[in-house]
Amino acid sequence: QKTQKQAPRFPRWVRINNLKADYDLLMNKGVFSEFTPIDDLSKLYPKRDCLPNKVYVDPYVNDLLAFAPAAPLLKHPLNRTGAIVFQDRASCVPAQLLDPPRDAYVVDATAAPGNKTTHLASLLGPDSKGKIFAFERDYRRAFTLKETVEMAGAQDLVEIRPSQDFLKSAPWNPSEQNALNKVTHILLDPSCSGSGIVERDEYKYIPKNEPESRGPRNIDGTLVKGPNTSPSAAEYEDSRTWRQGSSEKDRLFALADFQVRVIEHAMRFPNATRITYSTCSVYAEENERVVMAALNTSVARHRGWVTEPRHLNRMKNWPRRGIVEECEGNRQVADSCIRFNPWVDGGIGFFVVVFIRNEQERARLP
Ligand code: SAM
Repeated sequence: QKTQKQAPRFPRWVRINNLKADYDLLMNKGVFSEFTPIDDLSKLYPKRDCLPNKVYVDPYVNDLLAFAPAAPLLKHPLNRTGAIVFQDRASCVPAQLLDPPRDAYVVDATAAPGNKTTHLASLLGPDSKGKIFAFERDYRRAFTLKETVEMAGAQDLVEIRPSQDFLKSAPWNPSEQNALNKVTHILLDPSCSGSGIVERDEYKYIPKNEPESRGPRNIDGTLVKGPNTSPSAAEYEDSRTWRQGSSEKDRLFALADFQVRVIEHAMRFPNATRITYSTCSVYAEENERVVMAALNTSVARHRGWVTEPRHLNRMKNWPRRGIVEECEGNRQVADSCIRFNPWVDGGIGFFVVVFIRNEQERARLP
């Protein structure tokens, strides 16, 4: 089927992989020293100032840089060797927020194609004695995961668990005594509707025969047209009307059910103290409502899992938070949620929250 090419419509994000590159060296003497730093991200959107020689150092995520799409980086050898990784800005937030200590035992519950797995490995770093257990239920996708891990030079840190359903993992089994049983940090990035994905790679391929009405949509149901089409939280109410009675609604309920079960299962890990949950969806059904449902489970209450804005680390000053009305009016929970709106926040629409096990419960852990 013929396709049509479309130029990218937001900055290009580049994450430096600490397993294969040295951030300071690249910035001060290497390839990125040839770019001049700027503070205004909006200038890197195509058709604004078109500045291929500028770099924006992200103040929220470590080791993350933005460039104008015209910057000559795609074919750079650093990309081919895995020293740098092209990854959406928002999709770098879960690992950053999980913030595992250098020697931590970590689970990536739904891992393929492996962008967040390799980001976690980069955060642990080359001298880590930690481990990342990467579950992937789909056998074929586990191959892609393996390739991504090898490309990033992370094979010594990552133990891939191909064809394994995270929901069936049992850290309490004796066979997991020195493995899952020791896990303290868990990254959950389960399957979702993908409603926040507006554009990913250099080009977006639109099948020629695809009716235009089936393109990516904003949460109010209107087609995404470009920058500034992102709906505000207030416009969210209208989206309900659009979805009512549609099969999309049933699909969302099924996804949300699965997403809550994934969080609930992670909360059962005996030594877990920190969990991130993320989606590339803009729908509250998969985001704030899932968070509320997870917090209301008996496992969350009995084991002391909570959300608090003070655990957002470097994201504390990020301006876009969860929708209070969708958190049953609970501002503390809403403020613990991070939202990225499509386009305006530098890329795809996204949602992340961090759950922590409260101090009292943590004190009881060995
Ligand atoms: N975190 C990945 C990344 O950044 O590259 C993307 C994950 S993708 C949204 C979700 C993945 O979870 C899919 O590859 C899917 O096959 C896998 N998956 C879905 N249910 C699963 C389960 N119960 N256990 C393990 N993997 C699962």
